[in-house]
Amino acid sequence: DDGKLDLAREKLRTIFGFESFRGRQAEVVSRILGGQSTLAVMPTGAGKSLTYQLPATMQHGTCIVISPLIALMHDQLRAATANGIRAATLTSADADWRETMDAYRAGELDLLYVAPERASQSRFCDFLTSSPIALFAIDEAHCVSEWGHDFRPDYRQLLPLLERFPDVPRLALTATADQRTRADILTQLGIPQDGLILAGFDRPNIRYTIRHRENPVRQIEALMKEQPGPGIVYAPTRRKVEDIAEKLAAATGRNVLPYHAGLPAEERSANQAEFVASEDMVIVATIAFGMGIDKPDVRFVAHAGIPKSIEAYYQETGRAGRDGDPANAVMFWGAGDFAQARQRVTELPEERRNDERARLDMLDSLVETPGCRRAVLLRHFGEDPEATCGNCDNCLDPPKVSDVTQTARKLLSA
Ligand code: ADP
Ligand code: MG
Repeated sequence: DDGKLDLAREKLRTIFGFESFRGRQAEVVSRILGGQSTLAVMPTGAGKSLTYQLPATMQHGTCIVISPLIALMHDQLRAATANGIRAATLTSADADWRETMDAYRAGELDLLYVAPERASQSRFCDFLTSSPIALFAIDEAHCVSEWGHDFRPDYRQLLPLLERFPDVPRLALTATADQRTRADILTQLGIPQDGLILAGFDRPNIRYTIRHRENPVRQIEALMKEQPGPGIVYAPTRRKVEDIAEKLAAATGRNVLPYHAGLPAEERSANQAEFVASEDMVIVATIAFGMGIDKPDVRFVAHAGIPKSIEAYYQETGRAGRDGDPANAVMFWGAGDFAQARQRVTELPEERRNDERARLDMLDSLVETPGCRRAVLLRHFGEDPEATCGNCDNCLDPPKVSDVTQTARKLLSA
């Protein structure tokens, strides 16, 4: 109800120091305060943690947070403790188990972070009954789905735990869940179908462009001329990374450095650090680059070949324009990319082939649509976008019907 949400807004200011909720945070918080289990699908950086941390400070009982990475838990613990929230972790890296368990039993914790392998043990389950629980928050909930990109069998064991506390609401959180993953999460964690809140995937300042690859070095060079700021070029192999980096540096005279797992560790981290600090450097990289890198002023992300999937494309292009200023995402593709990717699928274990083919088909539909790119992306993540965005290649310069048939003909003959 409104009274609770008013109190939540007050806590938002006094505890977290934020003036207002972002995106659909308020909806998630008010569902949780009303005891309704929820799946929140929001992109990285949207502020998902707040949607369980805030209710945890308002409710009687502890919020149990299930999170897959110890490092992530300790980051969260530091941040929560800094805000004066009473929080603790129970992981293999902690020495103060007894203290934490006593604090829990005494009802002195707002938040208790645990790893899924712990949470799924029945002894742990017994321990949890020793004090009231306000909420179960399941972070990185896509780990429950085999269709998701990061399946963790321990997440499959969570349902029995949750079912021992049928009256405790559940909040599942993830940034990467397409239709199938979402359905899996709802079933696996026992959340009702109408408990889905999904929003905030649009990155309106990113201009999406997808072009045929002719001479990728020339094409990226042209992009760099247009775009003097920092950029990331993703290339499919180490060899191509080296080759493109060298040629781009020679052609443009700009600082262009490579990044891939085959480089010596010092060179790799030096190149990364230089990129993060630079205002005009371009890094040519394999997909090994980018996770956990926070550089707000990346002005373009280019793909010199197709990414693995629409999710991967969204994540990789999402590294552009985090500061909200205009940025470009440009993919250069060839029909051969899909042929090769499909060939590689035939080498996979049988049980994975259909899923990988489906992923490629979806990526193909993004690449070949004559319509709005953003609309395809957002629909893929379950949103209901406008038919045209005005900020992608196809909206700015709609392909003529003859171009489309020509592309189709080329593909048929390829
Ligand atoms: P996610 O888990 O969705 O990737 P986080 O929970 O880590 O995102 O939050 C990302 C950042 O956004 C954090 O620095 C957090 O403090 C900040 N944040 C969260 N909610 C708000 C808000 N309402 N206003 C301003 N900043 C916020
Ligand atoms: Mg998070």
